[in-house]
Amino acid sequence: MAKDNKNPNKKPKLNPYWIYGIIIAVFISIQIFSGGFGESTGTQTTPAQFLDYLEQGQVDKIEIVNKREARVFLTKEAQTQAPHKNTTSKSIIPSVNASPNYKFEFGDLQNFEKQVNEVIQNNNLDTELVYETEHNVWGDFLLTLLPFVLIIGVWIFIMRRMSGGGGGGAGGQIFNIGKSKAKLFDEKIDTKTSFKDVAGLEGAKEEVQEIVDFLKFPEKYTALGGKIPKGALLVGPPGTGKTLLAKAVAGEAKVPFFSLSGSDFVEMFVGVGASRVRDLFKQAKEKSPSIIFIDEIDAIGRARGKNNMSGSNDERENTLNQLLTEMDGFGTNTNVIVLAATNRADVLDSALMRAGRFDRQIYVDLPDVRERQEIFEVHLRPLKKEETLDIDFLAKQTPGFSGADIANVCNEAALIAARKGKKSVNKQDFLDAVDRIIGGLEKKNKIITPAEKRAVAFHEAGHATVSWMLEHAAPLVKVTIVPRGRSLGAAWYLPEERLIVHPEQMLDEMCAALGGRAAEKVIFDKISTGALSDLEKVTKQARAMVTVYGLSDKVGNLTYYDSSGQSEYGFTKPYSEKTAELIDQEISDIIEEQYQRAITLLENNKDKLTELAEVLLDKEVIFKDNLEKIFGKRAFETPVLNSEEEE
Ligand code: ADP
Repeated sequence: MAKDNKNPNKKPKLNPYWIYGIIIAVFISIQIFSGGFGESTGTQTTPAQFLDYLEQGQVDKIEIVNKREARVFLTKEAQTQAPHKNTTSKSIIPSVNASPNYKFEFGDLQNFEKQVNEVIQNNNLDTELVYETEHNVWGDFLLTLLPFVLIIGVWIFIMRRMSGGGGGGAGGQIFNIGKSKAKLFDEKIDTKTSFKDVAGLEGAKEEVQEIVDFLKFPEKYTALGGKIPKGALLVGPPGTGKTLLAKAVAGEAKVPFFSLSGSDFVEMFVGVGASRVRDLFKQAKEKSPSIIFIDEIDAIGRARGKNNMSGSNDERENTLNQLLTEMDGFGTNTNVIVLAATNRADVLDSALMRAGRFDRQIYVDLPDVRERQEIFEVHLRPLKKEETLDIDFLAKQTPGFSGADIANVCNEAALIAARKGKKSVNKQDFLDAVDRIIGGLEKKNKIITPAEKRAVAFHEAGHATVSWMLEHAAPLVKVTIVPRGRSLGAAWYLPEERLIVHPEQMLDEMCAALGGRAAEKVIFDKISTGALSDLEKVTKQARAMVTVYGLSDKVGNLTYYDSSGQSEYGFTKPYSEKTAELIDQEISDIIEEQYQRAITLLENNKDKLTELAEVLLDKEVIFKDNLEKIFGKRAFETPVLNSEEEE
């Protein structure tokens, strides 16, 4: 074959569709040709007409083809006579045999034979009657071919499907199934994230920056006999910026950066995961120094279980074992650093976490007030906001928000402002966005009867009153009876950011949560289903107090919490039936006690509660100031927030 490389652009590529096209064309032409050959020539006539000709002795031969069609050959004299002129074919292809003058379909063969024989005998004719079977060679050939064509077609279709629908055009990916799916970060194409885009997280940032440094100047560290760490594990709740940190490393480290997710190792075939790990490390070593980033590593790094009931964990264990050996096996002293992120460090296998593999664990926690402020600053950069916007205030209004939540608040605020047709985003838009993210969409047109509305108002006023009166309950920000999402009303609090929680704080919070139901009981003397989410929260909290934190006197300083997550699927309780009863009793006692406490508090302040509920019914939304008007200044200040203000 001549390989014309001079003009590569014009060289037609062999596209699979062409092949289909060619096959179809061949079929059609075969059909046409075979039709051309197979179709007999001769003028169409009727059986009655034919019998006439036969009677008159004009017929020389009758050919019965495939027991279906009769072809009539006339005698030489008859052919020259008037009605039969032009009946012979004028085929382009000269045929060896004489072609028939007439043809027709006779219907039933026996009947026809009888008729013909009768006429021949009666008239004493010497007309020949011959039988013939014609095969449509091409048609038969095609029929035998068809199943093969179908099977091959289906096979090609399945292959293309399995190879991922031709994404990227790398055909035949079925053979690449054991290859790693890691994406190599490309500085030129991918948007570059830098450490500047990561707000807060000072400690974590320093650690990963050092990792970048290790790879850039390894001699600096190895000169003193130190070894370059093999891996670092970023641990923290979702949305706190772990992936973002890794992206920043990719943008800043001027070395190849492979990124993939833990689930990329998983495939329906056994052994694929391990082979992908091997391939990933092989690629990374070829390009060393380099960084591998595995997001959500808990997908493969889960602790290897002992009670392998279903056997389905095998594949994951193989993958994990391969990862373990690649990270710290024989002769792995290459400059490949593995970064991994997870929010479930508690379930990871201990062999994975040991020094020598993930030497460093970098904890990425939810941001505190100051960090939130920095994150706001990063995400407010692209927004058109009012000059006077108080970022400090926004940071204080968003306790417990992760970086991702804050990014979302900023975006929502911009959308809300745009919906209102504003030129810039102001404080109220941000507050609306926060409300929306916590509570869901406002549903002003939800149908509520006045009685229900009254019940909701008293319920929320109950929460507000109790939390106002208790020292450790979170300070209130606002109360609303506008339905939002699935709730009919809500009380917004500004919880303190505590690192350790004391029992009295938990109890106060539970009391405040039960304040809603208590208010319904005190005012209407009946309770409702409206307290479902409160009860759920309180029950969980009480159970945690007793079984997780060991805060109950009767059960004692015990915990049934298993940080390894291995008992998650177990069917047995780690305690006896007797203890189970005790636990249930304790939980119920704690909750009942707090409920009674809330009731007593509200009984004593019934007038204020009613006043508050009336204001709420009137205004629908009330703030801290309204409460201060009714109750006077709150006796308990919030020391944590204040101390942060002072700093
Ligand atoms: P995860 O910790 O679950 O991997 P990501 O790193 O994917 O979370 O964070 C999601 C988004 O949240 C980021 O794309 C970014 O917009 C925002 N974000 C989170 N943390 C920060 C931070 N410290 N600074 C700036 N943006 C952040």
